[in-house]
Amino acid sequence: MTQTAPAPIIAFDRVTKRFGALTVLDDFNFTVAPGEKVTLIGPSGSGKSTVLRILMTLEPFQEGTLTLAGMSYQQPNGTGPFKAGERHLRQIRSHVGMVFQSFNLFPHMSVMRNVVEAPVRVLGLSRAEAECRAVDLLALVGLADKKDHFPAQLSGGQQQRVAIARALAMRPRVLLFDEPTSALDPQLVGEVLSVIRSLAHEHDLTMLLVTHEMRFAREVSDRVCFFDKGRICEQGAPDQIFTNPQQPRTREFLASVL
Ligand code: ADP
Ligand code: MG
Repeated sequence: MTQTAPAPIIAFDRVTKRFGALTVLDDFNFTVAPGEKVTLIGPSGSGKSTVLRILMTLEPFQEGTLTLAGMSYQQPNGTGPFKAGERHLRQIRSHVGMVFQSFNLFPHMSVMRNVVEAPVRVLGLSRAEAECRAVDLLALVGLADKKDHFPAQLSGGQQQRVAIARALAMRPRVLLFDEPTSALDPQLVGEVLSVIRSLAHEHDLTMLLVTHEMRFAREVSDRVCFFDKGRICEQGAPDQIFTNPQQPRTREFLASVL
């Protein structure tokens, strides 16, 4: 019996993204397998956040096709069959969760409501059902006792753990992390990384992580992609990228951050 590789859960097919005259992604190709944990590393301004924001459908692109969880789409000016309609985009978005550098919790809502709101409004869960799920998720991120607190009463590390619970409450198949620990005081980084580490053991969850925590990237990733000027300059198993990078640009970057 021959084994065929599963279809990728994420596929950028010749995607071009411009901001005005600035081309950030030029004919960009990138695939991620279901359940794979992939880290993007690379200099500031190279387009890493843009990749995640496009996946979250927060950012339109000009050319190419994006496939997510079996659904493909193009912008209305594209040339193929998969034109993005708002309903289609919502469906795609329902498979993806994102955790931002700046937490982005709703400041006027309790921790519990932050986690419960989207499942109730978007997925149509009953409040009781959503709260039941939220209790489990808050326990998972170690914050069961903070459910009635407001974001301002929590440390940055705790707020980020709530943001992770909130993203998981939508049961995404793909979870995106954009420098989730960059805004944190150094002593709070560990608690957030340890939550992400435990998620990395979830076989079915696909994770795409942008981080400057190189030791962490090495530990949790199946694959590390070095991103430079809107393209993947080099990628491979973490041990290979961190101990034996082939490209001069990768070596230079690693020397500057390690
Ligand atoms: P990274 O996350 O790797 O630091 P970004 O994806 O944020 O890089 O940005 C890639 C490039 O796109 C940068 O040159 C940045 O200045 C530019 N850029 C990002 N967002 C916008 C925007 N909303 N408008 C104009 N330019 C942007
Ligand atoms: Mg960024």
